[in-house]
Amino acid sequence: MSMQNILEAIQSGAAGDDIANLPLPESFRAAYVLREEQEMWAGYASEDKDPRKSLHVGEVATPEIAPDEVYIAVMASSINFNTVWTSIFEPLSTFNFLDRLGKESAWGARHRQDFHVVGSDASAVVLRVGSAVRNWKPGDHVTVHCNYLDDQDPSAHDDSMLAANQRIWGFESNYGGLADLSIVKANQLMPKPAHLSWEEAAVNALCASTSYRMLVGNHAARMKQGDNVFIWGATGGIGAYGVQLVLNGGGTPVGVVSSEHRVKLLEAMGCEHAIDRRAENYQFWSDEHTQDESEWRRLGKKVRSLIGDDPDIVFEHPGRSTMGASVFIAKRGGTVVTCAATSGYMLEFDNRHLWMKLKRIVSSHFANYQEAWNMNQLIGQGRIQPVMSEVFTLDQVGEAALKVHKNQAEGKLGVLCLAPEAGQGITNPERRAEIGEDKITLFARHARGEL
Ligand code: NAP
Repeated sequence: MSMQNILEAIQSGAAGDDIANLPLPESFRAAYVLREEQEMWAGYASEDKDPRKSLHVGEVATPEIAPDEVYIAVMASSINFNTVWTSIFEPLSTFNFLDRLGKESAWGARHRQDFHVVGSDASAVVLRVGSAVRNWKPGDHVTVHCNYLDDQDPSAHDDSMLAANQRIWGFESNYGGLADLSIVKANQLMPKPAHLSWEEAAVNALCASTSYRMLVGNHAARMKQGDNVFIWGATGGIGAYGVQLVLNGGGTPVGVVSSEHRVKLLEAMGCEHAIDRRAENYQFWSDEHTQDESEWRRLGKKVRSLIGDDPDIVFEHPGRSTMGASVFIAKRGGTVVTCAATSGYMLEFDNRHLWMKLKRIVSSHFANYQEAWNMNQLIGQGRIQPVMSEVFTLDQVGEAALKVHKNQAEGKLGVLCLAPEAGQGITNPERRAEIGEDKITLFARHARGEL
């Protein structure tokens, strides 16, 4: 039996029982990096490392599933920045994560391989469920969030992101979503929004849930109605969901981007206050060791000129290049919420501006199941739209990862896995029409130059 037979059964609308009886293939197509190549970029600068050379697409053997896991046929996935990190083996090789997981348990040992199948997003059809799975069955259309954890550990039972063994699926575990088949825990599944295509449904979970926790959930910035929120990378993966969450929650976003083209997209999203950081030419670092406070001040003035106030919340992720400015421009008593450090993780800011003005820096990382579920629901309700600008095939995964690495893409890049072409998988076209094709496809239309 091949994945092609499984695809035909899915496309012909086979009943769940029939899907459950389909034999699984002994191997499946997947995108992976190789342990034997983990030193391949020694001596290269980050920007010269090319994911097209390190990401391979080929067959890997189908693993067994644990009782609390399911097999899914992955219809589509997406590129996240973590796949870029894995492919350039920075800041460390992700085989370290697989080796650690491999030591934890017999089931964990399946993950310690000489290949690492990457990808932390998926829209999919459930094929088989393990004996301990209760809420899902073969044939279910699902999306997958990437919080992968052992729920037998007490530390996983307050906020599961605090679990001692919390991992990101497809980054810190093997058998990720950039493949035709995957294994995931039942507690990673969520219902697929019926009005979206496979690829539109696949791009959301990782980035949208991250932004939800940063801004809306109980554990980070806890935005209020009326808050002014300053968002770096406002048309990027997490930023574009951040902008939508602020608008949806009655706040005012100030979005930062790096081109006129992206300013136009922000305007089309309903974000009235945009800053083009390239045009403004901010130079927060005057040299490698010194920051220029007058440049922070210039940014602060710009924000005040737009909204008449300082931001209650700064949505931070570029890291070293922007953290000094982020701490400076936040309002007295305001919050800088950070989930990343794309430009460098050794951060510097002037602590006087933090303590004297009673600001706080709050860390955030992905989302717990409830937060991911709440975000998935907002997407299902059509209140938050997917931000997919382009679609690639699985064979083009390296090219897609390179675009994200080079900051050449807006929003998210979808990747077709088992779905043979874009536009399939919409099971509620009436709902789609009500929400509006134009809203759902805004990022794709912008990428095609149609705005
Ligand atoms: P993305 O789609 O590439 O977007 C990032 C945006 O940041 C870019 O569009 C760019 O916008 C802006 N940017 C990049 N470098 C910058 C710099 N030096 N100064 C100012 N702005 C800069 O990436 P993403 O998916 O949004 O992810 C962003 C970061 O968050 C990555 O490091 C990723 O690994 C991390 N992340 C963490 C989590 C978590 O759970 N902790 C989850 C998702 C993502 P402009 O050029 O238009 O300004």
